[in-house]
Amino acid sequence: MVEKKLAEILEKRYEKTIKEASNEEIYLALLELTKKSIKNKGTNKGDKKLYYISAEFLIGKLLSNNLINLGLYDDVKKTLAENGKDLTEIEEIELEPSLGNGGLGRLAACFLDSIATLGLNGDGVGLNYHFGLFKQVFKDNKQDTEKNPWITKESWLNKTDIKFTVPFAGFNVTSTLYDIDVTGYNQACNKLRLFDIDTIDETLVEDGINFDKEDIKKNLTLFLYPDDSDDAGRILRIYQQYFMVSNAAQLILMEAEENGYDLHKLNEHVVIQINDTHPSMVIPELIRLLGIKGIPMKEAIDIVSKTCAYTNHTILAEALEKWPIDFLQKAVPQLLPIIRELDNQVRLKYDDERVYIIDDEKRVHMANMDIHYGFSVNGVAALHTEILEKVELKPFYDIYPEKFNNKTNGITFRRWLLHCNNELANYITELIGEDYKTNADKLQDLGKFVNDKAVLNKLAEIKQHNKTALKKYIKETEGIDIDDHSIFDIQIKRLHEYKRQQMNVLYIINKYLEIKDGKYPTTPITMIFGAKAAPAYIIAQDIIHAILCLQQIIDNDPVVSKYLKVVMVENYNVTKASKLIPACDVSEQISLASKEASGTGNMKFMLNGALTLGTEDGANVEIHQLVGDGNIYIFGESSEQVIEHYEKADYVSKEYYEKENIKELVDFLVSDEMLAVGDEENLTRLWKELINKDWFMTLLDIEDYIKTKEQVFKDYEDREAWNKKVLVNISKAGFFSSDRTIAEYNRDIWKLK
Ligand SMILES: *Cc1c(COP(=O)(O)O)cnc(C)c1O
Repeated sequence: MVEKKLAEILEKRYEKTIKEASNEEIYLALLELTKKSIKNKGTNKGDKKLYYISAEFLIGKLLSNNLINLGLYDDVKKTLAENGKDLTEIEEIELEPSLGNGGLGRLAACFLDSIATLGLNGDGVGLNYHFGLFKQVFKDNKQDTEKNPWITKESWLNKTDIKFTVPFAGFNVTSTLYDIDVTGYNQACNKLRLFDIDTIDETLVEDGINFDKEDIKKNLTLFLYPDDSDDAGRILRIYQQYFMVSNAAQLILMEAEENGYDLHKLNEHVVIQINDTHPSMVIPELIRLLGIKGIPMKEAIDIVSKTCAYTNHTILAEALEKWPIDFLQKAVPQLLPIIRELDNQVRLKYDDERVYIIDDEKRVHMANMDIHYGFSVNGVAALHTEILEKVELKPFYDIYPEKFNNKTNGITFRRWLLHCNNELANYITELIGEDYKTNADKLQDLGKFVNDKAVLNKLAEIKQHNKTALKKYIKETEGIDIDDHSIFDIQIKRLHEYKRQQMNVLYIINKYLEIKDGKYPTTPITMIFGAKAAPAYIIAQDIIHAILCLQQIIDNDPVVSKYLKVVMVENYNVTKASKLIPACDVSEQISLASKEASGTGNMKFMLNGALTLGTEDGANVEIHQLVGDGNIYIFGESSEQVIEHYEKADYVSKEYYEKENIKELVDFLVSDEMLAVGDEENLTRLWKELINKDWFMTLLDIEDYIKTKEQVFKDYEDREAWNKKVLVNISKAGFFSSDRTIAEYNRDIWKLK
C-alpha cells in the first residue's frame, strides 16, 4: 500500500521511481503522503475545547513521529530499505522547527501528542518564530549565536486564510494563521495554531542575531525571547505576547461563534491553559473582546475567570514576569483600564500587598493576575507544588486552597521510546506485548524479568548498540571520537547555575587531577554535555567556556584522554536529545534541591535505561519513590535545608572553598593549564563567583556529589547488578507518560469528554 502510494507521488512530482529519487525528493514525497493520511484520520471533536497557549512548542522533527502515530512507520521503513534507501538518512533532510527553547516548550509538545492520543479536543496556540532562539556554534571555546532558520517552501506548516487584526498603540497589524497537524497515536488529529505576520522582514537580521528591535511590523515573529537586556527588547516581548494572546482570544471567540455557542456560557465550551506567565494577557484581552461583544465588564471577568487555568513552571523569582505599567502603556494601552480594574477588585478584598496585581513600583505581576482570575493553579511535580503552597505562593494558597493542584510532568513514549529507541521498544513488545504503548503502567510487567539473565544481557546489548550509534553520530556531527565502551555520563539541559553544570565541571577537574596522580578509573568515562545559554547570561557563558577548555586540555593529554573524555555537543536540541538519551548510562540531574520544578530530561533517561545521579529535587523525588533507594543515586542537602539556608542567609561559599580539597578544584579554573587554552576574564569571573557568591550552592554539595559519583562508577563494574537496576528503572517509568499527566489535567481541570 505505502509503496504504491509513495511511488505514485514520486512519479507525479519527479517522474522517478523510489530507487531513482534523491533523499530530498523522497522526503518531500513522504511529507505529501503523511499529510494526506492525516486528512483521512479526521480531527478530534467535542462540545468543549481546550486551547493550550504557550510561547514555546519544542516539537522536534515530525516525519518519523507522525509516521509512527499514523501506523505507517514500519511499512515506510521497509519499503525504503527494499529500494536501497534509509529512513534515518531521509529524516536528516527535515529541519528541526525553531519554536522552543527548553523543558517548558518540550513539555508543551509532549502534551499535544498525548492530548491527540487520548482523543481530546484541544489545540496548541503560539507564534511562528522564523529564527527561533538562536543556533549555537562554538568559537575559541565560547558560545557564539547565529539565527536558526527552519521554514522551507514545503514543510509541515499549512497556511490558512484566517487573519485577524491586532491593535497596538498607534498602529494595527494583520496576522496570518498557520496550522501544523498534530497526530495522535492511532487516533484522530488536532492542530498546533501558529500566528505570524506577512510583513516580517528576515533581512532585518544583520550579523549574528542582532536586529532593529523597534521595527515591530518587520520583527515581531523573528525570534523567540528576543534579548531583553534593554527596554526596546523588553517592550518587544510585550508586543509578541500580546500578539499571541490577542490572536488566540480572537480565534477562540470565532470558533465559539461558528459553533453557535452562547458567549455568556463560554466556560462550558472553552478552557484555556496558560502555560507559564507568557500568555497571561489573554485574561484582560478576552475581557476586552467580550466587552466589545456587549458583555459588561463584571460578567466578562466572571466568564473569563471560569475559563482560564494557569500552570506555574518555576520558583525562580527572575522568571515570574513583572511588566512595568509604562511599557504596557506604550504597547497595549487598551489593556490598562482592565488590568487596573482587576487590581482594584483584589485590593478591595484583600489587605495584603503580596497578592496585589500592580505593586508599588508600578509593575504588573502576571502570575498574580493568573491566580486571581483563573480557576486552577498547578505546579509540575509533587515537591514543586508543595513548595508553591507552603512557601512561594503561600499568601495565595491561603486565599484559594481549592485552586491549587499538582500535575507531575510527563513525556510522550512515542517520541522518547518508540522513535528514539526503536530496538528497545521492539524488545519490550516481545517481552510483554504492545499494550504499554497506550497504557504505560503495563511497563511494570517487565519487573518479572529482573532475575532473568538473558533479558538483562539483551538490555545491555541494546544499550551497547545505541552507544555505538552515538559514537558514529558524534563523529559525523561534531568530528569527535569517543570510546563506545566507556561509561556515558550525560548532562543535557539549558545552561543555568541552578542546574549546576559547574558542579559537574568541578567533578571533572577532580577526576583529571586523580588521573594525573596515577589513579586510573577501571572503565574509561565519557562526560557529555549539551546546553545553550541565554546570550545575556554572563556566568552561563563562562561555564560553557570552562567545559570547552577542559575538553581541550583533556584531549591534548595523551595519558588522561585514555581514561576521561569531555564532549560538549553543539546546539543541543530535540534531534540531538533523541540520539544521546538512548545511549546514556548515567543521567545527571544535579540541580540545587528546591530549584528544579520538575525536569523531564530525567524521565526520558529513566525510560531509556539510564540510572539517575541526582538531588532530591523536582520529579527526581518521584523517581526515587518509584524505583527505591537501591536503583538511584541521591546526594546533597534536602530542599528543606536549602530553603532554610536562603531564609537565614547563612550559606557562605568561602567557608567551603577554604577546605583544602575543594580549594584545589575551584582554583584549577584559573590554573596555568586552563589559562593556556582559555580566556582569563571569563575564567576569573567564574572562579570569583564560586568563591564569593555561589548563589546555587555548588560548594555545599560538591563533596557528597564526588563521593556518590564514585559509587556510581564502582557499581557500574558489576554489570549484572547494574543491568538489574536498569530494568527496574524502565519498568517503573510508566508513571511518567504524558498520557497519565494529560488524563489528570482533563480529569481535574479541563473536563473535556
Ligand atoms: C527534555 C528536553 C529538555 C528539558 O530537559 P531538563 O533536563 O528537564 O531540563 C530541554 N531541551 C530538550 C531539547 C529536551 O528534549
